Amino acid sequence: MIENRWQDAEAQMFQDDAGSDPAARALALRVYSSRLIGAEPDLVMHGGGNTSLKLTMRDLYGDPMEVICIKGSGTDLARIDARGMPAVRLDPLRRLRTLAVVSDADMVNTLRANLVDTTAPNPSVETLLHAYLPQTYVNHTHATPMLVLANLPEAAEAVRELFGERLALVDYVRPGFELGRRTAQAFEAHPEAEGLLLLHHGHVTWGDDARAAYERVLAHANLVEDWLAQRRPAPLKPSAALPAPKRAATLAALRGALAADLPVDAPMPVLVARDDSAMMAFLARADLSDLASRGVATPDHVIRIKGQPLHLTAANVAGGTEAIGAKVTAFAEAYTAYFETQAPRFAQRPEMVSPMPALAWIDGVGLVGIGEDAARARIAADLGVQNTRVMADAEAVGGYRPIGAADLFDMEYWPLERAKLGTAKAPSLQGRVVLITGGAGAIGLATAQAFAARGATIFLVDRDPDALERGLAGLGPDHAGVTADITQTGEPARAVEACMLRFGGLDILVNNAGAAINGDVATLPQETLRAAFELNFFSHFAFSQAAVAVFRAQGRGGQILFNVSKQAVNPGKGFAAYGLPKATTFFLLRQLALELGAEGVRVNGINADRIRSGLLTPEMIAARAAARGVDEATYLGGNLLRREVEARHVGEAFVALALSERTTGHVITVDGGNIEAALR
Ligand SMILES: [Zn+2]
Repeated sequence: MIENRWQDAEAQMFQDDAGSDPAARALALRVYSSRLIGAEPDLVMHGGGNTSLKLTMRDLYGDPMEVICIKGSGTDLARIDARGMPAVRLDPLRRLRTLAVVSDADMVNTLRANLVDTTAPNPSVETLLHAYLPQTYVNHTHATPMLVLANLPEAAEAVRELFGERLALVDYVRPGFELGRRTAQAFEAHPEAEGLLLLHHGHVTWGDDARAAYERVLAHANLVEDWLAQRRPAPLKPSAALPAPKRAATLAALRGALAADLPVDAPMPVLVARDDSAMMAFLARADLSDLASRGVATPDHVIRIKGQPLHLTAANVAGGTEAIGAKVTAFAEAYTAYFETQAPRFAQRPEMVSPMPALAWIDGVGLVGIGEDAARARIAADLGVQNTRVMADAEAVGGYRPIGAADLFDMEYWPLERAKLGTAKAPSLQGRVVLITGGAGAIGLATAQAFAARGATIFLVDRDPDALERGLAGLGPDHAGVTADITQTGEPARAVEACMLRFGGLDILVNNAGAAINGDVATLPQETLRAAFELNFFSHFAFSQAAVAVFRAQGRGGQILFNVSKQAVNPGKGFAAYGLPKATTFFLLRQLALELGAEGVRVNGINADRIRSGLLTPEMIAARAAARGVDEATYLGGNLLRREVEARHVGEAFVALALSERTTGHVITVDGGNIEAALR
């Protein structure tokens, strides 16, 4: 059941914030109720659906004008504000309806030309659908239960049984002028109706006030949900999840296969899996191959998840890299054939998008969203999950019959739909999955931020759960991490596996964790030295081995970056327990660069010094400054540049190495200049 989130106190707050103008107060309630719809994934997700309000405003001369405030194209209802609901003059839109045909270009131009604020975002491509209905508050959603109804072969019978005459039907047509016209005709033929079912697409309903309109969305959706719940068969026994290492290896093989045809340095997609028991029960169905061929529950999903998922059976998964690669190739060939069949219908031949899947159903693994970055992979997974739920319910009550290939193609290559994806240039590290050890420390986090700022997907490993949580919160959504004591045998491999299960693989390992232990070499306890080696050398060694295994499974190279130290070549008094493992790590860097170069794996490092809150605690800074007879600022700026070196400078240097596509076996010094401590 979809919960009613309306709260009078909240609604009042929205109105109070809007001031005394009645139009602004009505719009405030429209924004509030739009957000309530946006908050419920079973109503709309990720920019889907749209809401509107008709009202009378005063123009510059004080004359009244009728406008429709409509969601901006692609705006997310969950976060919408008044600015996201541009006002468009209604009369010119109504007049448009007197024309027999209106092209997309003319429709968009008329919408823009009649914006009250010419700097407002583009009104939704479904504006006319709202404009041609007379009601004040109109809501259009892709509610999960309504999508089940909309895709039944006998939808009309089911609607009559459930709603009588209260819900009128609108045959499928792509959004735009024609859908607006047909919607109006359907309502005018059934003026007693309180909503419309857009076949193969979604639901429209309305009300005279914001609350009534919102509650009608819920009432309709919940009526259908009740009906479905009574007919829903007992869930199948979930398909058994494969052991974690096999799942991780399957994802890495898929990731590599998806990028196999891309240029050598191009990023691989990020994968986000869903494997809860409901999803695994869906994957236990006997009719998966058939369902995988049917299509999407509502057409605007097609630009994010394509018409079909890649379906990997147990046999495909057991077949490993080769079998998975063959299935991916077959998918791409089938997509290309679909494109070649459909594209000639377009007056202007569109350019084919990547023929690779955006969604995979994998036996024993789960449903996998595929995207250029983790956010897009998550969106694909969310939509993919909703589609599987619609399919399962529809099959239980008559069948799942979405739109066919031609309608799907018209939507997939509709320029107004593609515009929702944006045209921003991809950031330089988009799609790169970066694992950082000691990730919640000063240098680790600064490095994470530097990579994230270039679009990378971050996986932090740290032993401190609180610091990890804070660090991840600072990075924002779509990054992840795990706590681990990486000095323990098996923990580095476990952390790398967790990263693979979360994002499908790994591209850049940053071996950053480290700690300095003081003590003269003559009296240093052996256990102290061994412990120092566990952290400052063996953890890096183990992480590197685990990373190389992933790189090989993906088959497209990779990178390992080390936080080295001047101690590696310049012994410091009392720093044997730090310098010895660092020297070994420095050697490891060069050895790995030598051995892995032919596989396209680059190995580089940073030599940083005097970083506040890195290895240097405030006490150490105070003590060292005092020992040199200078103040702290002078101590920290004690380099050729006379400027303090900050953690962010180290992060930027790691990024510089990551972007230097033909550099390996190299160490960048980030110490403000110190000729005496130069590495060579
Ligand atoms: Zn829609």
